[in-house]
Amino acid sequence: MASRRDFLKTTAGVGAAVGLGSAVPKPLIGAPAVHRRVVTPVSVASGNGLEAVDTAVRAVNAGGDTLEAVVEGVNVVERDPNDSSVGFGGLPNLDGVVQLDSSVMHGPSRGAGAVACIEGIKTPSRVAMDVMRYTDHVLLVGKGAQRFALSMGYPLENLLTERSRRRWIEWRARMSDRDDYLVPPETGSGNDEPFEDEDSYGTNLIDSHDGVRPQGTINCNVINREGDISGVTTTSGLAWKVPGRVGDSPIVGAGLYVDNDVGACGSTGRGEAVIKTCGSHSVVELMRSGMSPTDACLEALRRIVTFTVEPRLRNDDGRPNFGVNYYAINKNGEYGGAAIYAGARFAVCVDGETRREESAYLFERDR
Ligand code: ASP
Repeated sequence: MASRRDFLKTTAGVGAAVGLGSAVPKPLIGAPAVHRRVVTPVSVASGNGLEAVDTAVRAVNAGGDTLEAVVEGVNVVERDPNDSSVGFGGLPNLDGVVQLDSSVMHGPSRGAGAVACIEGIKTPSRVAMDVMRYTDHVLLVGKGAQRFALSMGYPLENLLTERSRRRWIEWRARMSDRDDYLVPPETGSGNDEPFEDEDSYGTNLIDSHDGVRPQGTINCNVINREGDISGVTTTSGLAWKVPGRVGDSPIVGAGLYVDNDVGACGSTGRGEAVIKTCGSHSVVELMRSGMSPTDACLEALRRIVTFTVEPRLRNDDGRPNFGVNYYAINKNGEYGGAAIYAGARFAVCVDGETRREESAYLFERDR
């Protein structure tokens, strides 16, 4: 991580050049907080990204590109029918349709690509990478995103697994006792409990205070030996969402941000809160000013708490009734994760070891 001294040294250098009447224009954006050096490859991801971080570090160690590495990592989860938070098997929207969001950022080329509300394509992260590589655009949505994917050779597939469909049917039946949908007898009913979510790291049920709407996402970031950084975020978003709803995951600066001079950050949890605070971009900017990844994540979460003024989004104690998690890595290969509430974990692969670590947090769950 950049020491404060490094940062001051860098900016002092810029000031001196300007003071001497140099022709070098003063940069509009602060100079990078850290200098390029050889680092140990590190990958950090949401808690459901153990395999992803492992895959990403292996790929960069084998000389692979950083973006290819993280996309390869999250593809494992996107293709997994048993992960109900991402890609194939993701929980559907209000109409029972799976709509996916994803974004990628490639540090060395300063490239970005994203798709939102795309249907029928198992690996939206790969389509996001293709938007970056093969178009002059950053974000494609809905039918247009799907048509682009088909043009690139992706097969159109049914993403709604039988398991996710049954969960949606059950949710629809429980929505109201005044409509004509009955709770399926095979769920054993009478009981109002929502489905227990089996993907304890893949969704935010465990992080969310509403305890009813499963959410889930995978974010994965990596830095290679040369200090190049890339990141990806991919999700099926909020379960039972209003059709057309787009979360933070495909929004550059919200669910993902990478600055190759500084670091990367991605998020999971309530996307609306992350969008409103430009979450991942804020974390990267805080790291640029000298904060450690963990402190930067915590500070960005405090902004979310400050922004949460609607009573419907607050607990009795005035705190957010939802979860948000950030995962960050800096130019020196330091990493961290933080959540609004205690109990979250994130995945990391560093020094040949892949593990989950406890996220830092703002609040204990129960006071
Ligand atoms: N951030 C995702 C969204 O709002 C959901 C999640 O990560 O739980 O779409």
